[in-house]
Amino acid sequence: MFVDSHAHIFYEGYKDDLDEVLRRAKQSGVTRIVVPGTNVETSREAIQLAERHEGVYACVGVHPHEASTASDAFLREIEELSFHPGVVAIGEIGLDYHYDFSPRERQRELFQAQIEIAQRRNLPIVVHTRESIEEAITMVRTAVEALPAWRTSGNENKQNDPLRRGVFHCFTGSVNQCRELFRLGFFVSYPGIVTFKNSPVVATVREIGIDNILLETDSPYMAPVPYRGKRNEPAHVVLIAQKLAELLALTPEVIADRTTHNAKLLFGMP
Ligand SMILES: [Zn+2]
Ligand SMILES: [Zn+2]
Repeated sequence: MFVDSHAHIFYEGYKDDLDEVLRRAKQSGVTRIVVPGTNVETSREAIQLAERHEGVYACVGVHPHEASTASDAFLREIEELSFHPGVVAIGEIGLDYHYDFSPRERQRELFQAQIEIAQRRNLPIVVHTRESIEEAITMVRTAVEALPAWRTSGNENKQNDPLRRGVFHCFTGSVNQCRELFRLGFFVSYPGIVTFKNSPVVATVREIGIDNILLETDSPYMAPVPYRGKRNEPAHVVLIAQKLAELLALTPEVIADRTTHNAKLLFGMP
């Protein structure tokens, strides 16, 4: 059983064959799919998907790309949406200094405000970074220090597991940055990029192992080899698991067990 912890299956590209996409996921053993919103509208769509399809869970949040169009009213809406029973996290939120679609100051403001929503709601966060990892880690560290009691529902009945607060998705940072994130209660996840030739993340993956990793496809983007460049879909998470198994000299079953455990712990999924 696999969890795809990050798939935007609300996009237009799935409009005609979503049922097929979900059927292929199930057939491949992908029993749970987490769908992060990118603005208020897509957060609502993520919730609708969670209502309609078994094994689909929603995250609500405003992506840094959309920060310049978001007002304080949007933040209130995100907080209200977070009460829906299908919502398992606030996301995706963060900082994107590669595209800079929104002013950085506004991105930081919105990231901070949404971390605070997660803290009020005892929810984890799904964090997006691009050329902004160090600053995002600093902001998360400050938030954890300001409220060490920030915990997530998934942690409630699992006293033996370490406290978890979120995931840095599509992670491209260093081993040291990973270790700091693990210390702060975060997982990291790698999409299809790990299967690419000369992938920059392979060395890090080998070093950090499987204990603090989630699986994700980042659909519709980042399709793994041999689908690179095509539309991605949750069933392909299996290819990422196979690659991780190969890199870490483990069986795909061990990868599946461990990452599914991690995802259930973080998102409080049954
Ligand atoms: Zn992202
Ligand atoms: Zn995303």
